[in-house]
Amino acid sequence: MPKSHKYIFVVGGVMSGVGKGVATSSIALLLQARGFKVSPIKIDPYLNVDAGTMNPTEHGEVFVLRSGLETDQDMGSYERFLGKELNPENYMTGGLVYKSVIDRERALGYGGKCVEPVPHIPEEVIRRIKAAGEKDKSDITLVEIGGTLGEYQSVMFIEAARTLQMANPDDVLFVLVTYLPVPGKLGEMKTKPTQYAVRTMNSYGVQPDIIIARGEVPVDMKRKEKIASSSGMRIEQVISAPDVDSVYDVPLNFEADNIATIVMKLLKLKSKRPVELAPWKNFVKKAKNTKGEVRIGMVGKYFATGDFVLADSYLSVIEALKYSAYHAGKKPVIEWIAATDFEGMHASKNLAKLSRYDGIIVPGGFGSRGIEGKLRVIEYCRVNKVPYFGLCYGMQLLVAEYARNVLGLRGAITTEIDPKTKHPVVVILPEQQEKLDAGDYGGSMRLGVYPAYLKEGTVARAAYRAEMVQERHRHRYEVNPEYVEALEKAGLVFSGISPDEKLMEIAELPKSKHPFFLGTQFHPEFTARPLTSHPLFDAFIKAAIKKQK
Ligand code: GLN
Repeated sequence: MPKSHKYIFVVGGVMSGVGKGVATSSIALLLQARGFKVSPIKIDPYLNVDAGTMNPTEHGEVFVLRSGLETDQDMGSYERFLGKELNPENYMTGGLVYKSVIDRERALGYGGKCVEPVPHIPEEVIRRIKAAGEKDKSDITLVEIGGTLGEYQSVMFIEAARTLQMANPDDVLFVLVTYLPVPGKLGEMKTKPTQYAVRTMNSYGVQPDIIIARGEVPVDMKRKEKIASSSGMRIEQVISAPDVDSVYDVPLNFEADNIATIVMKLLKLKSKRPVELAPWKNFVKKAKNTKGEVRIGMVGKYFATGDFVLADSYLSVIEALKYSAYHAGKKPVIEWIAATDFEGMHASKNLAKLSRYDGIIVPGGFGSRGIEGKLRVIEYCRVNKVPYFGLCYGMQLLVAEYARNVLGLRGAITTEIDPKTKHPVVVILPEQQEKLDAGDYGGSMRLGVYPAYLKEGTVARAAYRAEMVQERHRHRYEVNPEYVEALEKAGLVFSGISPDEKLMEIAELPKSKHPFFLGTQFHPEFTARPLTSHPLFDAFIKAAIKKQK
């Protein structure tokens, strides 16, 4: 790695969920807009080796990289903001780091030394950070350390950053993202939690260079002064970042606050070219100047967390819908519908309420809860010609619904739900079964990019305008090849298939029969970007807008 390589560590204080991911993405975008090659890394301190084994209500969406690595949703933000695909080296968890140190120890890789958390864990972290930058040939690496300052599990990662800074004092920068609460009863913004966060950072031997002060409202001069003086910083190093309507405004707000200029000054960098933010500004303008709405219902189960509703589990789907809606000039209104609402006593009444939507999505999922409800919703969409888009599980269930209600195969379903079903229209891949039998659940699904050929004259082909596409997968089950002929005879079209023609990647009804009834075995949402929306989401939104007329 050339000596001049720069590193920006982004850490969070006070509480989680204040937008470190968006802050990191935005700073990266502003540096990229000045001609730097940036490479963002996410570190998740937990001991899961990847994000794939976690329930999405625990930790939000599992974002799948092109390589197939199952990662954190922040990786999705980086890819969307920067409009580029990231390497698996750009993601690491505590579990992955510890595992590689322990594996190396077992292979006598430390030559008989006593292997200790410090320095060996930070060393491995630094090795990985450098490897990511080298593979990407980047100028600047941004490293977002997940979690909140003060947690035990993040200490090793901050120690890695400190060590790197010791060795390269001019090349490492710390950005602290904090939150300034305005307690309702007081009505005054409080800086103390931020002061404590800085002190905690100091206790690890590091000091913030920039503080991004998040809050419901802007931070005024008086409070900026207080934070700056108590943290040994200059006022311009404290940046106010109040809540915004859209995360896509953040880079422009940061730009107005000269963050990139401050970063470049501190890292002794010179802009490589005049700032190029016009495409981003155009997108933001489009998003603000919509005429009319398009209403989409999302039927899922990973919404509830305690008494709160969390839409994070489907983040990429939501963003993909937004991009296509904005590009079509419409404001997307996305509502969560619990699949279980369509089961039992109130099912019919609730189905009738679906008429308020212009389109319905059943996104990816696992397990049996809410399945019968989802099948009812899909049937409703098919019969009433409501645009329907099924993603992964949503495609498998589309096939099951068609088998049941059009082919007349009673109880047809995926063997994920009923291993003994009489009509296993969706079955586990044989190599997947072997893995499960061996208890191998981690990173073992059919993951990452696979090609699909698109049939001529289909909705999918018209949308993509391509003969072959590469999309990201994450599943164990597949349409059962034994039912394909019967399903096709009954009118279902498999418009996307694997090169060996064994795997059905897209199922749809022809345009003559339905305005949009399509499901994909893959996850198109992972490659939708603000500046380049996804063709299938575009087609779905277009059909939804048409339904309004
Ligand atoms: N549970 C299904 C499978 O494993 C679908 C997975 C998904 O929707 N991502 O095949």
